[in-house]
Amino acid sequence: MKMKQITVTTPLLPSLDVLKPYLEDIWQRKWLTNNGHYHQLLEKELCDYLGVKHICLFSNGTLALVTAMQALELKGEVITTPYSFVATSHSVMLNNLTPVFVDVEPETFNLDPTNIEAAITDKTCAILPVHVYGNPCDHQAIQAIADKHDLKVIYDAAHAFGVKKDDCSVLNWGDLSILSFHATKAYSTIEGGAIICHTLEMKQKLDKLKSFGYESETQITMLGSNAKMNEIQAAFGLASLGLIDDAIEKRQQVAKMYREALADVRGIRCLNDLDGVHHNYSYFPVIIDDQEYGLSRDALYEKLRENNVLARRYFYPLITEFEFYKNNNKTVQHSSDVAKGISENVICLPMHHELSNDDVNKVINIIKDLI
Ligand SMILES: *Cc1c(COP(=O)(O)O)cnc(C)c1O
Repeated sequence: MKMKQITVTTPLLPSLDVLKPYLEDIWQRKWLTNNGHYHQLLEKELCDYLGVKHICLFSNGTLALVTAMQALELKGEVITTPYSFVATSHSVMLNNLTPVFVDVEPETFNLDPTNIEAAITDKTCAILPVHVYGNPCDHQAIQAIADKHDLKVIYDAAHAFGVKKDDCSVLNWGDLSILSFHATKAYSTIEGGAIICHTLEMKQKLDKLKSFGYESETQITMLGSNAKMNEIQAAFGLASLGLIDDAIEKRQQVAKMYREALADVRGIRCLNDLDGVHHNYSYFPVIIDDQEYGLSRDALYEKLRENNVLARRYFYPLITEFEFYKNNNKTVQHSSDVAKGISENVICLPMHHELSNDDVNKVINIIKDLI
């Protein structure tokens, strides 16, 4: 018999009993996309759940990022992080903007505000930080720089669903924030994404940009793509919303087990919870010091695989280490030694709501070499 695999994540799936009435109603209405009933309902429910004013749903997080930059009518250079999923910088380049990569903080792995100012030129138009693993960026320092130099701030909050700092959603920071609802994320609509904005005017602009730029049946007022979320995605999202709190609580218990068990393992560093932050525990990264631990990150990765534990090296390679980005003259790359060091030593352990205590203990025992 094939041994059970322990994957890094598993999708949050609504029960079929809960999903079915939504689908039956969609079949009755015969309205499948284009701002349908469940699309509107999910926008409303997510505003309430997340504690934000306006949300605009998208077919995926990447198109939300691309459209966010388009909506702000940016030109020139965008300062961002190399320590992210490649969609972050791709979305800059898809807008014919220049990504300017600067290094991250050694503690949170987020864009380091002290590196931003040195990278600003007369072409800089915006800052695009990422709340990596859902850990909030230093938004006060970032906003102060943006205000001083008249720059826009767009947060890639793909990992930060439900994350709050001092009881306020981190999605309220900056000019715009984007979420991803991809199946691998903590909360999903299979594929999906969203932009969070602060004014009705911006919300209406985003609504047009994701639907060809239509103003009315006979009028186009902007160059919009097609990035609409459909009714089945929205129904899946509505049916899942009731599960997310329990799923996050379960993830928190897994994080606690890992932290307690790994605290005394030499050469393994876990990230701590941050003061005043309501975390979503979407990832569990650990940093391997191969000298202290006795095995390299890649050797541990292989050893876990041999035991059917599918951990992932998020984020490796670093964006600027991909062949496509290396020496790419459409980018500007400042030194990123901190990010490179993290990228070469990080491994994300299995973290999801369906892990049993036995699963978690198995992962721990492999790391402790007790198997
Ligand atoms: C997942 C992810 C995205 C892209 O989202 P999709 O919905 O997969 O297009 C963007 N940025 C980061 C940091 C992500 O992890």
